[in-house]
Amino acid sequence: MFWKGSLFTKEGFINTCIDLENCKFVTNDKEEDGIIVPLFRNCHTHLGDTGARESLPTGLSLAELVGPNGWKHKWLENNNIENSILQGLKEATYSGIGLVMDFREGGKEGLNAFKMHDYLGTSILFGRPLKDEALPGTHAGISSLKDVGDLAFELSSQARARKGLIGIHHSENEHENIDALIELNPDFAVHLCHATDEDLSALKKANISVVVCPRSNGYFGNKPPLEKMIDLGLDLGFGTDNGMVCSVNMLDEIRFIRENYPSISSHKILEIACFGLDDMLNKDVTSRYFNPKLSGWALLSREAEDNYESIFSPETKVLGVRWRN
Ligand SMILES: [Zn+2]
Repeated sequence: MFWKGSLFTKEGFINTCIDLENCKFVTNDKEEDGIIVPLFRNCHTHLGDTGARESLPTGLSLAELVGPNGWKHKWLENNNIENSILQGLKEATYSGIGLVMDFREGGKEGLNAFKMHDYLGTSILFGRPLKDEALPGTHAGISSLKDVGDLAFELSSQARARKGLIGIHHSENEHENIDALIELNPDFAVHLCHATDEDLSALKKANISVVVCPRSNGYFGNKPPLEKMIDLGLDLGFGTDNGMVCSVNMLDEIRFIRENYPSISSHKILEIACFGLDDMLNKDVTSRYFNPKLSGWALLSREAEDNYESIFSPETKVLGVRWRN
């Protein structure tokens, strides 16, 4: 079986045909099947609360909803997290996401609730200890310097000792000091909605990557300065954040981004969605993602003559996914 169509690459679209049996690019004079994109990278999720979407209360502030003692954490204590994560993974699978970087609440048990599922893509799980235990797993997903203070440095050194990655939320709902973050030296920081130009330049200089989640931020009345981040050449990724607030679907995210950042080109938005955090993931050349050809592809329906218009159309459907595990 073959997929023929326009394939999105960092340089733009090329016409090609993929032999689905062996993932080789071949010549074939069959008709076009649709538009082919490298599997999306969802660089920031909390899939554990996907199941809370139906019961999400309205009118709560960020702190009341997702803060350390907020509504979400009570929900997580009283509900089946394995099922909730599975719901999120089904959404990721259906929408052509090949990489999920999930912040796992709930200590070791929280990590196991994800690991028990057979997700066909790649998952990188960022652990968070319960109370003052050691870091569970390899990678650290730190709530924020504001929430945990010096514990962040302890978790960070534990992750480093295990050759893990370190991610942390920063300047989501209000401005936070950048110096402490630079001192912590994580691999990536999430949100930066209230970062100043100087903060972003400092991140660039320190080689710290950034993940933004514009739909989730918009829900709480925040907006990350994405244009400036792109201008500065930061290593960027997109995430969908809490599963109870936003779908895990990257097509939903990029449509929102295009509507809310009209000066950013469709090519750039799609490039970040497909090749997000490329510099970070290439640092140690251990990731399968150091070579995008290895991640797999999604076949999207053709909804408009122009490739970009077609992909960003709300009518676009994922017709198939070819994983390369
Ligand atoms: Zn988050």
